[in-house]
Amino acid sequence: MTTSNGSETVFQSVAVDNVSMPAAHSPPPHEGFNHEDGTGAGVATPGGATARARLRDAAAAAAALAAGRLSRTMRAGGGSSLPGVLVESLSPGFIARRAARLADGVVAVSGTNGKTTTASMIRVILRQEGLSTVGNESGANLKRGIATALVDARSNATVGVFEVDEAALVSLMPALRPRLVVLTNMFRDQLDRFGEVERVAELLRGACERLPDDGYVIANVDDPLLWHTVEGFRRIGFGVRRPSVSPTSGAGSPGIDPGAEPTPCPRCGAPLNYEERTIGHLGVVRCTRCSMRSATPDYEARVLIRDGLRSIVLDVAGVPLTLSTGGLHNAYNAAAAIAAAGVLGISPTRSVTALESFRPRFGRAEELQANGRPVWLALMKNPAAAAALIPEIAEDPRVGAVVVSVNDLVADGRDISWIWDVDFERLATAGVPLIPSGTRAPDVAVRLKYAGADPLPASRAPADAIRAATDACPPGKQAVVMATYTAMLDIRRAFLGDRAVRLLDVRS
Ligand SMILES: [Zn+2]
Repeated sequence: MTTSNGSETVFQSVAVDNVSMPAAHSPPPHEGFNHEDGTGAGVATPGGATARARLRDAAAAAAALAAGRLSRTMRAGGGSSLPGVLVESLSPGFIARRAARLADGVVAVSGTNGKTTTASMIRVILRQEGLSTVGNESGANLKRGIATALVDARSNATVGVFEVDEAALVSLMPALRPRLVVLTNMFRDQLDRFGEVERVAELLRGACERLPDDGYVIANVDDPLLWHTVEGFRRIGFGVRRPSVSPTSGAGSPGIDPGAEPTPCPRCGAPLNYEERTIGHLGVVRCTRCSMRSATPDYEARVLIRDGLRSIVLDVAGVPLTLSTGGLHNAYNAAAAIAAAGVLGISPTRSVTALESFRPRFGRAEELQANGRPVWLALMKNPAAAAALIPEIAEDPRVGAVVVSVNDLVADGRDISWIWDVDFERLATAGVPLIPSGTRAPDVAVRLKYAGADPLPASRAPADAIRAATDACPPGKQAVVMATYTAMLDIRRAFLGDRAVRLLDVRS
């Protein structure tokens, strides 16, 4: 298989650390991902109808694109997913046929946190290899978002990397037929949407059962229930180790959330003991009753140097990597991306080279200029994301003020009771000015007071909150905004104006 620049061969037979695996690039006919003739023959289209289906797809895609442009011009909203909604109704089976035309196959990334960043990292690695990728880079991760990405795809795209909502993955498996499913983690997310973590585990297991015979699951070995969930599948594990931190250093050590509920053994239900804990329930465990213990990751990211949200230095599969986006959560994302690339035949050395230039997207520790000061934006999508962020922010001596912005729209999760589970006490001990913001600013103010902080007056409007933060921030220090999903959108709209409009419905 040649790449789009014709110069390199990837996806070849590969030995991953101590795990040998067969070539992933040459699936038997009618089984794999590689329809070299580009017809998508055999997928949802009886042979004789193939040409007609392709014509219909092309016409539907053109109509859907035009409608999307019109919608954006008229500011009708919904522009980023409208083409996908239209194209599947104009030409049912569009996703399956277009996905089947991707000669190098599809990678699906799912799980609670880190989907967007991990998928983005995988695309960066593949593009460095000369491949032309297609993906739902806006983060619209339901069926219509993926259809929209395929409508928008460049005609020379050969590989798809899609982030897929955990609940939507099962139903999208037959259409996408991914050769790899990457599962980041399972945290309690939006309770009003999914229910318990066990339900998410069932959904993800059901999706893995739909993998082709030569497909792989890349999963987080540090998530005990997730790793247990993918037992029996062809699985490759990734994990993060922090050799410098003593496992017994107690509640004050980085990443440990003293409020975390005890994690039950996925096999027998007894409490798990942690030899090392990274974020929330992620870590190296041993069951107090049965023989269950954490597996050794095939791809291990060892943390060498942490620099708050700014950067982190890792050793991944023996290769040093400086990521310009910090936090342990990004160590996981990088390990997952490098593992996925490894299964596709790309060495960790090459992946690391690509990731050295990786820059965060949309609220994932990006930087804005506001009132002449740099302001860090960090997306606090759910309690797990907040648990990962708080230690990084509280320990960073450069942080001079923090805005905590919580909205309760559907995309944020209507139920904000999770703010009581998050370790804002830790943030309070940092002693920097805190500014409650968002549609639920008063609740945030109460929460911060209970945490022992003395917050500044609440500002619902993001621009006011950021103004208060930059005013309160001592010279030479930096303001940080932790914001839920739509709160982050509000902030970006306030500072980026129209350029942020396309992000409006990324969770639709
Ligand atoms: Zn057990």
